[in-house]
Amino acid sequence: MGRLVMKFGGTSVADIERIRNVARHVEREVKAGHHVAVVVSAMAGTTNQLVDWCKQASAVHDLREYDAIVASGEQVTAGLLAIVLQDLGIPARSWHGWQIPLQSDGVHGSARITGIDAGEIRKRMEQGQVAVIAGFQGIGPDKRITTLGRGGSDTSGVAIAAALDAACDIYTDVDGVYTADPRIVTGAQKLDRITYEEMLEQASLGAKVLQPRSVELAMVYKVPLQVRSSFESPDSPNQNKADGTGPGTIVCDEDKMMEQHVVSGIAYSRDEAKISLRKVKDKPGVSAAIFGPLAEADISVDMIVQNVSSDGAFANLTFTLPRKDLRKAIDVLNGIKTTLDFQEMTHSADVAKVSVVGIGMRSHAGVAAKMFKSLADKGINIQAITTSEIKVSVLIDEAYTELAVRALHTAYGLDKA
Ligand code: ADP
Ligand code: ASP
Ligand code: MG
Repeated sequence: MGRLVMKFGGTSVADIERIRNVARHVEREVKAGHHVAVVVSAMAGTTNQLVDWCKQASAVHDLREYDAIVASGEQVTAGLLAIVLQDLGIPARSWHGWQIPLQSDGVHGSARITGIDAGEIRKRMEQGQVAVIAGFQGIGPDKRITTLGRGGSDTSGVAIAAALDAACDIYTDVDGVYTADPRIVTGAQKLDRITYEEMLEQASLGAKVLQPRSVELAMVYKVPLQVRSSFESPDSPNQNKADGTGPGTIVCDEDKMMEQHVVSGIAYSRDEAKISLRKVKDKPGVSAAIFGPLAEADISVDMIVQNVSSDGAFANLTFTLPRKDLRKAIDVLNGIKTTLDFQEMTHSADVAKVSVVGIGMRSHAGVAAKMFKSLADKGINIQAITTSEIKVSVLIDEAYTELAVRALHTAYGLDKA
């Protein structure tokens, strides 16, 4: 049996009873002969509470202190799980990011991992000690605590698995990756397997079951990755299926897929906003003059739609950006209004992005057309469109998000029989 990283999310460690349940999952894998490292999230609701306290303390706060505060949630869970494991007779100790150390860059609030020295943990795992690691946190170049962005414990889990040459099981509150968020599409189906590429698109387009960066790392470092439930009994015979399907969803390379769908899932994101600029001069350099300053302000623009007036002199430009950056973007654009010379700026945060994802799109025509027709049949207006080789995304009025996701789920034949 090899090395295994088991990552447990916030709902899975929400109280002491659930932490005991997690310990029994760990016990099962230890008894099966694995050398185990566990990565834990903060107890459900804790990170939100900590973020909220930072905001209450000061609307514009020092992000280094924000990280010192919000990273503490994971530290509590790691200590508690180590205690509970010790009670079961399993040698265990907790690890903070800096103790490993898990190094990151210095972008506080959304740091990226730059290196992990897993030597000490590996040695102790070989001696039979379970490493219980606080997820979501690292140490920056200036030796300050950093955090990896919301949902970042997934990325801690996969990165530690890569550093340990281990497989990574992500335990959460659903039993795998579904064809759509099972909380809004009751007929969604669990996938036995999904490719890294599709999972990366799904996660980037809003399916929060995995943080996008964790999938990226798993793809690059070829980490065997599985999403599975922490709520299924630790003793269930389903836990160790021998037929290679696994109890959850296996995220793997395309050549390991057993069957292929044209569309494997529908994702949505409400974290969107749009800005429209009316009557911008239609001449070379204008787009650069708009999107350059936005990029410098670290705002990533996603969809862009441009309509040119009938005389060709002016253009109307609409683009989308993360909702959290709307205020900042408006300030940037107001700052360059005199040089840019647009007539009017309007904005809206009541928009959502709905996407269909599937690697089968590479070889099948008509996927986008079917999407547009299904939305039209429901009377849903499309405000912007983007496509890539394996996804089509549309921007719609936020109020229609669930209707659109359900309609598309049915249109692509994904509903449970
Ligand atoms: P954790 O706290 O374990 O990290 P998250 O809340 O971050 O859990 O992610 C799990 C949630 O992701 C599920 O409860 C589910 O509502 C949501 N989700 C969104 N899209 C999907 C999908 N396609 N498949 C499974 N879960 C999804
Ligand atoms: N606790 C952090 C969050 O809520 C990290 C995580 O759970 O993955 O975003
Ligand atoms: Mg999560």
